[in-house]
Amino acid sequence: MKKGQKLKDNRTVRKEYQVIVIGSGPGGATVAKELSRAGKSVLLLEKGKDHQNLGTYPGAFAMLDKGGFFKSREGLTLLKATTTGGATTVYSGSAAMPPEWLKARHGVDLTRFAQEAWTELKVGVLPDHLIGDASRRIMDTANAMGYAWEPSPKILDTRKFKNGKCCGANTSLGCTCGAKWTARDYIREAVGYGTRLLSETECTGIVTENGRAVGVETLSGGVSDRFYAETVVLSAGGIPSPVLLKKAGIEEAGAGCVIDPTVLVYGESPHGGSSTDPLVSVVTWEFYESHGIRLGTLIDPWLMTVFNGVKAGVRSGISAMKYRNLVGILVKIKDEPAGWVNGEGQVSKALTDSDIQKITMGRGIAEDILRASGCREKSLFASPVKGAHPSGTCPIGRVVNRNLETAIANLYVCDASVFPEALDRPTVITLIALGKRLAGHLTGGGDS
Ligand SMILES: Cc1cc2nc3c(=O)[nH]c(=O)nc-3n(C[C@H](O)[C@H](O)[C@H](O)COP(=O)(O)OP(=O)(O)OC[C@H]3O[C@@H](n4cnc5c(N)ncnc54)[C@H](O)[C@@H]3O)c2cc1C
Repeated sequence: MKKGQKLKDNRTVRKEYQVIVIGSGPGGATVAKELSRAGKSVLLLEKGKDHQNLGTYPGAFAMLDKGGFFKSREGLTLLKATTTGGATTVYSGSAAMPPEWLKARHGVDLTRFAQEAWTELKVGVLPDHLIGDASRRIMDTANAMGYAWEPSPKILDTRKFKNGKCCGANTSLGCTCGAKWTARDYIREAVGYGTRLLSETECTGIVTENGRAVGVETLSGGVSDRFYAETVVLSAGGIPSPVLLKKAGIEEAGAGCVIDPTVLVYGESPHGGSSTDPLVSVVTWEFYESHGIRLGTLIDPWLMTVFNGVKAGVRSGISAMKYRNLVGILVKIKDEPAGWVNGEGQVSKALTDSDIQKITMGRGIAEDILRASGCREKSLFASPVKGAHPSGTCPIGRVVNRNLETAIANLYVCDASVFPEALDRPTVITLIALGKRLAGHLTGGGDS
C-alpha cells in the first residue's frame, strides 16, 4: 500500500487473535507492525477515522479532540488526536533519543531499540539549505549571544521536499508533501504483514477472566462487539489508557499527569518569518539538564497564530496579522506530575509554581533572542500554555512493570502513559523503542 493511500478496514472476519492492540499511535502501530511481522495474528483497533483531508483546518479540527480545545478542569489546553496514527498525524517530526534517566532512574534501557528506530526512519539533521532562512537566523543570533543552538534531528524525508520546502507551519494540520513520517506508515506496514485494522472502532472495555486479559469489548457504528486474544496491548494514549485501566479495576491508573507544557513566543521580524521553514529545524538543549527547559523554532499555522495573538491582546492580534513576518520560538519544559485523569476521561492538571518559573525563564530567553534578531519589542507576544504530550498517567514502576505489564496478566500498556516522568523532548523515538522492546518480549526474542 502506498503512502497517502487510504488505510482499508478489514471488518469482522474472525473473533480471535493472538494479540489485540488498542490505539494506532506510534506505540500501538509499532507493536502491531513488529508482532505481525513476526507472524502473530494481530487486530489493531482505532477509535478515530482514517482522516484524509490533511493540511486543512477542517481536517485538523476533526482529528484533534474538541477541535484542539480539549482542556483540563483548570483550563490548560491538552492536544490529543483521535485518528489513525494518533498525534503523529499533527506532530512536528522532531526526533530525540530516549533520555538517559530512563535507564539510570527507572532501569529501562531502550538504547538498542531506539538506535534501530533511528536507522529505520532515517533520522537526521536537515542540510543547511533546508533549515529555513528565519530559523537559521535565530540559531545564528542565539549562538552569537553565547547560547548553544544546533540543527535538530528530524524524521523527514528530504527527497519529498518540493522546491526546497516541506509543509512548514502547516505540518501541524497534517503533512501533505509526504516528507514527514507518521505512525500511519507503520500501520501500512503492519497491514501488509497481515494485521487486521478496524478504524472507527472504539475499545470500550477489557474482558478479563480469573485475573487475566482475554479480550476486548468494542463499539463501532453503534454496534457492540467482543474480540478475544491471548494478549491485549493498550496503546490508546496518555489520557484514554488510564480510563480503560480504571474500568478494568486498576484504580491507581490516572493518578498524576505530565504534559511537557509549551508556549510559543512570537516576534515580527524585518527579515521575514518562519512559516515556511520546517518545524523545529533548530533547537537548544543547553538548559535541559540544569533547568528542564528546551527551546526550538516553531510557528503555528496562520489561524492558530492569529487566535493566539488576539487572545494575548489587541497589539499582539495586530502583530499576528503580519503572519508572513512572524518568527516563533517554542519553549517546552519538564513539568512536575500533578492532577489526575478520572474514569470519564476528565483531566485535572494545573501548573505548579516550579513549572511557571521554568516557563518564565524560557520565555525570557526566547524574547532576548527575538529582540537580538531584529524583532520589534512591541511585536513580541506569547501563546497560552499548551500540553502536547499528555503522559505519565500509567507510569512504569507504579501501574505497569518494566515489561509494561499491568496487574492484570497478559494486559500490557505501550504508549506515552507509561512514561515515569515528563520526557520534555520528542517522544516518538522513545515510544517506537518501547514498542519494539515489548514486541521482543512478547515473541520471546528480545531483552526487556
Ligand atoms: C502538536 C504536536 C506536536 C508534536 N511534535 C512532536 C515531535 O515533533 N516529535 C515527537 O517525537 N513527538 C511529538 N509530539 C508528541 C507525540 O506525537 C505523542 O507524544 C505521541 O503521538 C503519543 O503516542 P501514543 O502512542 O502514546 O498515543 P497517541 O498518538 O495519542 O495515539 C493513541 C491512539 O489511540 C486511539 N484511541 C484512543 N482511545 C481509544 C479507544 N478507546 N479505542 C481505540 N482507539 C483509541 C486514538 O484515537 C489514537 O489514535 C507532538 C504532539 C503534538 C500534539
